[in-house]
Amino acid sequence: MADKRDYYEVLGVEKSASQDEIKKAYRKLAKQHHPDTNPNDKAAAEEKFKELSEAYEVLADPKKRQKYDQFGHAGMNGAFGGDGFQWQDFTHQADVSDIFGDFFGGSIFDTFFGGRRGQRSTGPARGSDLRYDIQITLKEAVKGLTKTLNIPHSVRCKECNGTGAAKDSSAKTCQTCHGSGQVKNIQRQGYSQYISIGACPTCQGAGQLIEKPCGKCAGKGSVRKTSHIEVTIPIGADNGTRLRLRSEGEAGTRGGPSGDLYVVIHVKEDPVFQREGPHMLTEIDIDFVQAALGDEITLNTIDSKATMNIPPGTQPGTIFRLRGKGMPVLGGKGSGDLHVKVNLAVPEKLNADQKRLLKEFGEASGKKSTTQTGKKFGKKKR
Ligand SMILES: [Zn+2]
Ligand SMILES: [Zn+2]
Repeated sequence: MADKRDYYEVLGVEKSASQDEIKKAYRKLAKQHHPDTNPNDKAAAEEKFKELSEAYEVLADPKKRQKYDQFGHAGMNGAFGGDGFQWQDFTHQADVSDIFGDFFGGSIFDTFFGGRRGQRSTGPARGSDLRYDIQITLKEAVKGLTKTLNIPHSVRCKECNGTGAAKDSSAKTCQTCHGSGQVKNIQRQGYSQYISIGACPTCQGAGQLIEKPCGKCAGKGSVRKTSHIEVTIPIGADNGTRLRLRSEGEAGTRGGPSGDLYVVIHVKEDPVFQREGPHMLTEIDIDFVQAALGDEITLNTIDSKATMNIPPGTQPGTIFRLRGKGMPVLGGKGSGDLHVKVNLAVPEKLNADQKRLLKEFGEASGKKSTTQTGKKFGKKKR
């Protein structure tokens, strides 16, 4: 962690750079440092590329960027909330394939995350990962739930078992690239020579040509399908909680394994309860009589009810803690607390009886002067 470079420096942008400038800088540098464009120095390029991706990952996300601006790399450690750097292995996929889609003809994730490096053009290739965002309510987060998701993705064609060839035919080695799926382009400019390796135009990088394509998938080896996938959202799920469903992403090519599906959870804000990690905050109004004399009240917790004792002489703004009445801890035991802030509600209208009694109370108190203190002003009491 100590020798980590500043993300802005990595991308070569100002601290004040706009999201657009960040994206542009990343695009430019990522192409330049992609391992495939640096065949002579792959290892160094990979390191550089990872560094870039990580920097972009953070700076492209306004929330993470803010955290980073505030806390630096330490803020990305997960020490400041659930969505620290658990995303490291899951970069902005849509963005990245958008950038590399037409440039390298494949998903960058194949290169780094489980794919077969250097074999992407010919051998089996792992399918892309998919991301699915889901919104749940705070109440659902408390209890956990099972949901059926309709996921449009590609699955391996059953008719040809992913080969793309019709049953009575087979695949033939491509004569243009002799099965490598790649063709070399050599360009000379003065004394320099540029070698670029690209996908074979005859077989589109497959290395093989299918004589008679499978009727069901038109030779692609995979078909589009909407799958109904049941997912269990755990008790205590929070914003950014990520579930990985293995092999539910896009189908691989040429018999490669499928990618994974990542379900990312967003918890809707609740009008009554505010969540702070495992703890929950809420506010209640009591009147002057309850505050002065004390009372026992019943209030809603996020999933049931609780009674709370208001001691005599309770001041407005006092916060009471109901132990264990907050949020269940994700994947662990126990629950956080419910913090209840007590507000004093002053009646806007009084009937004659009430007025009379309050006047009598005022007279009985005999206190007309005002105590002045500046101590509590502007200070949040909790
Ligand atoms: Zn097929
Ligand atoms: Zn070919």
